[in-house]
Amino acid sequence: MSVTGTLYIVSAPSGAGKTSLVKELLKQDGGIRVSVSHTTRPTRPGEVDGQDYNFVSMTEFDQLIETHSFLEYAEVFTNKYGTSRIWVEEQLAKGTDVILEIDWQGAQQVRKLMPEAVSVFILPPSREELRRRLTGRGQDAEEVIDLRMSQAVSEMVHFDEFDFVVINDQFDKALAELHAIFKAQRLLLTNQRVRQAYLLADLLSE
Ligand code: GDP
Ligand code: ADP
Ligand code: 5GP
Repeated sequence: MSVTGTLYIVSAPSGAGKTSLVKELLKQDGGIRVSVSHTTRPTRPGEVDGQDYNFVSMTEFDQLIETHSFLEYAEVFTNKYGTSRIWVEEQLAKGTDVILEIDWQGAQQVRKLMPEAVSVFILPPSREELRRRLTGRGQDAEEVIDLRMSQAVSEMVHFDEFDFVVINDQFDKALAELHAIFKAQRLLLTNQRVRQAYLLADLLSE
């Protein structure tokens, strides 16, 4: 049996801290890669095309839908976002764990296609703190922040569709909790049977 990677879905209302948490997690754990989504939203200052997102026009996005290039896609805050199907499939086939930072609509689509995916929902410690983080990030206009705040509850009501829930109050604590989920997943019997096949064969031989 060959080792295939685990697919992780990380969702949260905008500003809860998922991008910061996932970025730190990748620094600590070399066996995980994050999928770079396609989006039609404007580039924020400091964002790099191909690194933070693949920034595309509406027309390019629609072409990618037509060529079945997306594992999932959804409209979030008037923009479209989608996950590259081929990239994800290639990484998983190589045995690399993959994180998708996607919204609840995308999470539902991926769960249907890949029920073995492990999903994590990140919640902020309060509504006030969520607004503070969106404002403090200093990347979005006031009306964009208002729109994201008004959408936060409709995103958060989906928390109970996820396998794990992490509250991002103290950053380091939330990061350790997120990392614990990834570590525990690798220790599951079904995964250890494959990863430790040689050791197990050696230990259990008569
Ligand atoms: P941020 O999460 O506040 O930094 O804002 P973004 O503009 O980066 O993301 C906006 C929303 O789009 C979030 O809910 C993301 O989870 C979601 N999102 C990002 N990439 C994807 C994707 O490839 N697919 C789906 N379905 N959602 C995505
Ligand atoms: P998301 O990707 O969920 O929209 P970000 O990772 O961009 O969220 O975080 C939003 C803002 O909140 C950023 O400015 C980030 O530095 C800050 N932030 C994230 N986690 C915490 C935390 N635990 N305490 C305080 N600020 C945080
Ligand atoms: P932002 O514009 O702040 O980067 O992202 C806004 C929201 O879009 C986030 O909550 C993020 O999870 C979601 N999002 C980003 N990429 C994708 C994607 O590829 N698919 C879906 N469905 N949602 C995405």
